[in-house]
Amino acid sequence: MDLDSVECISSLEGLDEDDIDRHHPHPHHQFTSSKPHTNNVNSTIHPATSVHELLECPVCTNSMYPPIHQCHNGHTLCSTCKTRVHNRCPTCRQELGDIRCLALEKVAESLELPCKYYSLGCPEIFPYYGKLKHEAVCNFRPYNCPYAGSECSVTGDIPYLVAHLRDDHKVDMHSGCTFNHRYVKSNPREVENATWMLTVFHCFGQYFCLHFEAFQLGMAPVYMAFLRFMGDEMEARNYSYSLEVGGNGRKLIWEGTPRSIRDSHRKVRDSHDGLIIQRNMALFFSGGDRKELKLRVTGRIWKEQQSPDGGACIPNLCS
Ligand SMILES: [Zn+2]
Ligand SMILES: [Zn+2]
Ligand SMILES: [Zn+2]
Ligand SMILES: [Zn+2]
Repeated sequence: MDLDSVECISSLEGLDEDDIDRHHPHPHHQFTSSKPHTNNVNSTIHPATSVHELLECPVCTNSMYPPIHQCHNGHTLCSTCKTRVHNRCPTCRQELGDIRCLALEKVAESLELPCKYYSLGCPEIFPYYGKLKHEAVCNFRPYNCPYAGSECSVTGDIPYLVAHLRDDHKVDMHSGCTFNHRYVKSNPREVENATWMLTVFHCFGQYFCLHFEAFQLGMAPVYMAFLRFMGDEMEARNYSYSLEVGGNGRKLIWEGTPRSIRDSHRKVRDSHDGLIIQRNMALFFSGGDRKELKLRVTGRIWKEQQSPDGGACIPNLCS
């Protein structure tokens, strides 16, 4: 999920004109809950506060970027909101027309503002129009919850997410850089309702997510195991991991670099960047009457010696 780009749209959804009007008189109180960091920034950088507030769209409270629109009475709103208010100013209900607010756009051009992740440690200051671009890739931006089994909208830093996984998702936590896991499933024919397993490992002072799941790869049901690093991609490249699964005298081994949790679980899965086990093989590994899946996955995480091209992308894995 891309957090930064769709706020304007989602906060408008389900609002009719009355709602918009009711919300409008208190534009500066609205973002206390949804955008805590903006407030911190405002209270820290006083000179820019009032202009900055002028640049908040009064309807969705997001920062406005050109083209900024205004009604005949001078009420401003962002271009996303403009397309959603059916040509009627949400403030005075007059016909909106198609008037640009060039003056405000010019004022914005002269502004320099701190990154919105200022309170999370980002020291950078940007021209107004360059800020958004940086914030999309800012190293201090919060991480999305790495849990895969449901759409979870929780974001935060790594310690916060580790606690969240443990307390809210009841994820198993393990210390150490080797593991030995058994995945048992009594009805392995049901791949359609994909099952997810997540285990978190704590080693080298870092946290790693071991994912195990069933899904359809084309027509073929498969199981897949892979590791994600709870941190940035650059840091992830300092580590490697191996996974091993086998039985009945056969064995599959995977060795790779953990992907950052900046890459969504689905993205990693769809790039096949992990240990993939065909269901037939998985049932063969399980032994017995093929009615039950019993896979033993062993693995190890280790730290790589620093090398400049250590995590080089394999083109068809990174597309
Ligand atoms: Zn807006
Ligand atoms: Zn108006
Ligand atoms: Zn930043
Ligand atoms: Zn979550």
